[in-house]
Amino acid sequence: TQEQTNFLEPLYRESSVKKVIGIVSGKGGVGKSMTTSLLAVAAMRKGLHTAILDGDVTGPSIPQAFGLHERLLGNAEGIIMPALTNFGIEVVSLNLMLEEETQPVIWRGPVVSDVVKQFWGKALWKDIDVMFVDMPPGTGEVPLTVFQSVPLDGIVVVATPQELVGMIVEKAVNMAKMMNIPVLGLIENMSYIKCPDCGKEIRVFGDSHIDEIAEKYQVPVLGKLPIDPKLTEACDNGLIENLENIYLDGVIDLLV
Ligand code: ADP
Repeated sequence: TQEQTNFLEPLYRESSVKKVIGIVSGKGGVGKSMTTSLLAVAAMRKGLHTAILDGDVTGPSIPQAFGLHERLLGNAEGIIMPALTNFGIEVVSLNLMLEEETQPVIWRGPVVSDVVKQFWGKALWKDIDVMFVDMPPGTGEVPLTVFQSVPLDGIVVVATPQELVGMIVEKAVNMAKMMNIPVLGLIENMSYIKCPDCGKEIRVFGDSHIDEIAEKYQVPVLGKLPIDPKLTEACDNGLIENLENIYLDGVIDLLV
């Protein structure tokens, strides 16, 4: 935890980020990047100047959801200009710096955390009200080093009903506690699916345990996201900002 004070000083005096929120998950594929993107869209719709720092090198989910393909390059001093989405969200992502989008990234924790440190300290952040950091999944070496690379004000844990049964979510919560980072709340993804004909909510993965875990750790449940084919489609087509229903509008007031 002592290492946490070892952040790069942002290069420009006018650089400022008011609030930094990490989005974590106990494992991959639970919708962490999707949730990060939805939270950013919700913040942007509230009129907040919003940024995403994509620290998940396992896939290009964030650039893809926003339809970003331009390549980010540092200038001679290594300063990175963030990419801008159609609606004005600022994004830096390792996936936008690769020569080939299809190139696999097999960097180890220290290298990943170094890149994330550069994103924090060397991207030109100006007057950002809230930055969402898409953290690497899991509770291993890579997410741990990234925890030490960005000064997080708090984290949000994303899980599906299945992980909520096991220990995975509790591991993620405990990791944050060990690092003295406040857990701002839990979001359950793929909670249910709504029948398009009768509107009935079907719990595909069985009963939810999120309330029990929230109570055990004294953290709020921020939201429950259904499985919604419109979400998948929007992400696949780079149109997440155009979605009518993003489900998480109400969460921003609880976070920022
Ligand atoms: P993670 O970041 O946890 O690895 P992603 O956010 O990349 O997971 O989501 C994995 C896949 O599942 C993506 O294709 C995404 O579009 C889809 N997905 C995630 N959550 C939902 C949801 N609630 N409804 C429909 N599709 C979803």
